[in-house]
Amino acid sequence: MLKTSLKQQWPPKYDLQYQPDVNEKYWYKDIETASKEDLDELILFKVKNVMKYAYEHSGFYQRKWSKVGLHPNDINSLKDFEQVPITTKAEVREDLEEYAPFGSNVCIPYSDVHRIHGTSGTTGKPTVFSFGKEDWERIAHQHARIMWSFGMRPSDLMFIASPLSLYIGSWGALIGAERLGAKTFPFGAGQAGQTEKAVSWLKEVKPTVFYGTPSYALYLAEKAVELGVDPKEFGFRILFFSGEPGAGVPSTKKKIEDLFGGICIDSGTMAEATPWMSNTECEHRTGVHLWQDVVYTEVVDQHSKARVPYGQEGVPVYTPLERTSQPVIRYWSGDLTTWTDEPCQCGRVYPRLPKGIYGRIDDMVTVRGVNVYASLIENVVRRIEGLGEEFVMVVTREKIMDEVTVQCETVGSRDENELRQQISKELKRETGVTFVVELLPLGTLERTQFKAKRVIDKRNFKE
Ligand SMILES: [Zn+2]
Repeated sequence: MLKTSLKQQWPPKYDLQYQPDVNEKYWYKDIETASKEDLDELILFKVKNVMKYAYEHSGFYQRKWSKVGLHPNDINSLKDFEQVPITTKAEVREDLEEYAPFGSNVCIPYSDVHRIHGTSGTTGKPTVFSFGKEDWERIAHQHARIMWSFGMRPSDLMFIASPLSLYIGSWGALIGAERLGAKTFPFGAGQAGQTEKAVSWLKEVKPTVFYGTPSYALYLAEKAVELGVDPKEFGFRILFFSGEPGAGVPSTKKKIEDLFGGICIDSGTMAEATPWMSNTECEHRTGVHLWQDVVYTEVVDQHSKARVPYGQEGVPVYTPLERTSQPVIRYWSGDLTTWTDEPCQCGRVYPRLPKGIYGRIDDMVTVRGVNVYASLIENVVRRIEGLGEEFVMVVTREKIMDEVTVQCETVGSRDENELRQQISKELKRETGVTFVVELLPLGTLERTQFKAKRVIDKRNFKE
């Protein structure tokens, strides 16, 4: 049995002053190292409560479940829970339009709404989220607990190098670090000239933790070198990432660690599944742990939607277990991953995604019948000597044959023919597909201060 009293109440009330001793490895040892049975019991307790709550308070879930004759009382095991219908982004968008502007899934009175956030809306209409104050505090608390697991402590200073805008990543990092008692430096990103300023601030202030996207960290390093500064001079102990898959890609992880000299931590689910740190690596960096008592994560088959066994590929489906302002039950991520329950050195019982999130269903293109992920290309491009960090994969169709071109930039003076051959050979080995390699001078491809677009599919399937 878990010693914790947290199983007795839902929504959980956390002691917001609590903090482990700085030398303590775990925030809540009894949960993080519980037996599988005890952990499942705690998850089931939360699953049942969040479902009951959603059924009583959310118009969206009342209608959705009534349509299929589902009542929360039907759910008596985690196996039963696998039968609960998936929630998709399209459904949420429809609901937001019908019940504009906040949708019918807000379960608290408008007067109790504390924060409004949204997706950055790169495709389609942005999605709106409402958070009550208690949810916001619980998110901060759980984020602090997870940040503890990769070694962050109150003595740290965290530099936040991502936009402080609708984007919830930055705010989740900020409030987690604050709850942990660390100092924060919410610098932001995306303004003209801001990266040059970042370089000089970092040299002066020397924060110990970096938060941002991997592509931005690489851009920052490139800028620093251009300005004659070695990124190691910043002195980051930990570089912590979300928003993009890169930090889980082995060659990118290595590159970041080599460039900056700190450890590179992969993290993040999606804004809708906040607290989004529920997928985060511990200090051992063996792939993200699924913090199952915070957000219950299932990996399911892309087509049948049935849970896949450990070791297999599927799509993560998320259920945040403590949200009362806007519950989300079995949310379809559209991401691709494989999972494992093999133990990690840290002793936590949570399953892991050993390769992190390595693709999205839509960041993957099928070329001549083979699935090609942008992250596979990234792994090759970033380990080859003589190439810059940026790359784009372009897919075209000439008559009936797909052609896939990788565009990358050269640095240094390697022979271009030899370089082209090496890239082509390694890409073929990694993906099974033959690529056309296009080498460009450094600085040709678009730089990103946020999330990079790596796949351009120019095929027209409608003709
Ligand atoms: Zn671990």
